[in-house]
Amino acid sequence: MEELKTLELDIQSVERKSPVELPENLVFGRIFTDHIFEMNYDTAKGGWYDAKIKKMDDFDLSPAAMVLHYGQTIFEGLKAYKQVDGKVALFRPGKNFERLNNSARRLCIPESDTDFLLESLKELVKLDQDWIPTKPGHSLYIRPLLFADDPFLGVRPSEKYKLMIMLSPVGPYYPEGFKPVPILATDEYVRAVRKGVGECKTAGNYAAGLLAQREAKKQGFTQVLWLDAIEQKYIEEVGTMNIFIHFKDEVATPMLSGTILPGVTRMSVLQILRDWGYNVNERMVSMDEVLEGYKNGNLLELFGTGTAAVISSIGRLKYKDTDMRWSDDEAGELGKKLYQEITAIQYGRKEDKYGWLTYLD
Ligand SMILES: *Cc1c(COP(=O)(O)O)cnc(C)c1O
Repeated sequence: MEELKTLELDIQSVERKSPVELPENLVFGRIFTDHIFEMNYDTAKGGWYDAKIKKMDDFDLSPAAMVLHYGQTIFEGLKAYKQVDGKVALFRPGKNFERLNNSARRLCIPESDTDFLLESLKELVKLDQDWIPTKPGHSLYIRPLLFADDPFLGVRPSEKYKLMIMLSPVGPYYPEGFKPVPILATDEYVRAVRKGVGECKTAGNYAAGLLAQREAKKQGFTQVLWLDAIEQKYIEEVGTMNIFIHFKDEVATPMLSGTILPGVTRMSVLQILRDWGYNVNERMVSMDEVLEGYKNGNLLELFGTGTAAVISSIGRLKYKDTDMRWSDDEAGELGKKLYQEITAIQYGRKEDKYGWLTYLD
């Protein structure tokens, strides 16, 4: 990555004529800020070049661009928060750029300098900080994207790429408050198989999940619970969130075996739970265990973890003919407590004792 040390960031700021006006109800991922970060890669040029912050706009792409045909594309998702004292904080951004590089390696996409990306992101957010909503539960969603744009129809790794970071102001994930959701375990479809690309944030994983999600929605469930691809016996993830299972004497979460996304929220929840003295285990959790725990009262609650919702309490879980119900309107205790703890750190209401926040300085 030597060539990256010499990359310079060209900031082309656009003049805005009127102050930022955000709609009353911010729909996720529809509105974008004034600027975007972009840099390009070309093997012939020796690596990454032309890093800049410029006007957020549409761009030209060849119909032959390799990403459209063979799917070399990866992304990330993180957030910036306007804190109670007005400071702007990013939540563990280094982890996201590390994960971007991990996804890149698996898909033969070139890696990039995580320090340079973080510095560039800080500049970008600084430039567009008026776009960060200040209402409770609101934040600025950050979406890094890296894809192959070489116009070539042969199947091999692309020699040209574009890395972009766009920003989108977002409202609270649960506008009506922290409510549990109903989910459906599917043994009809699988998301990812070991040694495949399940641990990468790459487009194909999400396209592969759409049909199962659509069928679950039709039956009144908000998300799909994915089971392992070999036996459909072990729990993997819930939609695009990691999952935690709270038993009376243990909190368990599926271990990272290559098929699930190593979530930054998952990692943070694990650390907090260990600090709180819970018996926490990353292991294989079978559906049978969950059924058993439901029947004998050992299973207290289930919740998902991810950047978008932070914590998503699961109130109902259907698996084959068994419809397990905890609550339709009251989120589980531990999920609620974790949600309070993490959001308090993100919004600066509580001391960041783990050093998870990065400020714009
Ligand atoms: C992004 C994502 C997660 C959650 O990761 P966070 O870093 O906590 O946001 C979990 N599962 C999938 C499939 C994801 O795409």
